[in-house]
Amino acid sequence: MILVLKPRAPQDGVDGLVKNLENRGFTVHRSDGACHTILGLVGDTSALNEETFRANPLVDTVMRVSSPYKLASRAFHPDKTRVSVGQGKAVFGGGGVTVIAGPCSVESPGQITLIAGEVKRSGARLLRGGAFKPRTSPYAFQGLGPAGLELLSAAKKAVGLPLVSELMNIQQLEHFGDVDVIQIGARNMQNFDLLKELGGIRKPVLLKRGLASTVKELLMSAEYVLAAGNSEVILCERGVRGFDQYTRNILDLSAVPWLQRETHLPVIVDPSHASGASWMVPALAKAALAAGADGLMIEVHNDPEKALCDGEQSMTCGAFDSLMGDLARYAQVEGKTL
Ligand code: PEP
Ligand code: MN
Repeated sequence: MILVLKPRAPQDGVDGLVKNLENRGFTVHRSDGACHTILGLVGDTSALNEETFRANPLVDTVMRVSSPYKLASRAFHPDKTRVSVGQGKAVFGGGGVTVIAGPCSVESPGQITLIAGEVKRSGARLLRGGAFKPRTSPYAFQGLGPAGLELLSAAKKAVGLPLVSELMNIQQLEHFGDVDVIQIGARNMQNFDLLKELGGIRKPVLLKRGLASTVKELLMSAEYVLAAGNSEVILCERGVRGFDQYTRNILDLSAVPWLQRETHLPVIVDPSHASGASWMVPALAKAALAAGADGLMIEVHNDPEKALCDGEQSMTCGAFDSLMGDLARYAQVEGKTL
């Protein structure tokens, strides 16, 4: 159940109402918007009488929300959620287009620092790089692990971009001190124990859509993180499995406007994993902006042919630079800035 409170409802009255509901066994999620405070009640609300709430002078509207993802839904939080990273160096959901770029994997000090400098110069706001890699084959490069995260920290210090890196299990978290955004990859989208642990972390979570997950399942996974206490979740459409092998995945761009309508969480697109081919990335990146994405995550490598992971889909630094010039113009058409 959702209670939309009257504009300028007095603070002590609201606090009293929240306490009362908590004493009755409900978890109350509070969202303070520009005009209204909204209370989301989680628990068995079937026995609650809506009329009692309507009679409360603090309450404007009472809504029974049938959506299973109450906290992620627009009904609970009509204003878009802004996720600010690195003291405002990057913002998702603030009306602009925010680009994350970098290699699939951190490979060496020279590689990551060079790419960091290049993508920053081109206008990327965050540096990506995997240190723990979820590889299909156990014999493939698994990432540098903690040493990779140290190299990311050094690149951050040298270049000044906030970091995004993938966490595969909660034991790895001790190495993520300098990482600004915790990525949960497609393969872990439904690792519910991991999602619950992220509730207690004071860092934004970039949640990628599972290989064969529906958009509703993506929102339910986001709901796990929100319900556990972390309100900063960024959703990422990265393509889903299809029947046709001509691209690595099928980029589901319909998911972007659908999610933008259904949830207040920022939505970004990863055209690199979606296509699996660097030459397709510019077209898909532009299409993602047209579909209303709040940002992009793009793989960039200084020498794609020698990349230890996902070289085929990695853009060269030069190609990325030219794409960023195009994207700035596309964003402008959408009335946004890059
Ligand atoms: C990645 O971003 O490097 C990655 C492994 O992506 P995904 O989880 O979408 O496959
Ligand atoms: Mn990759």
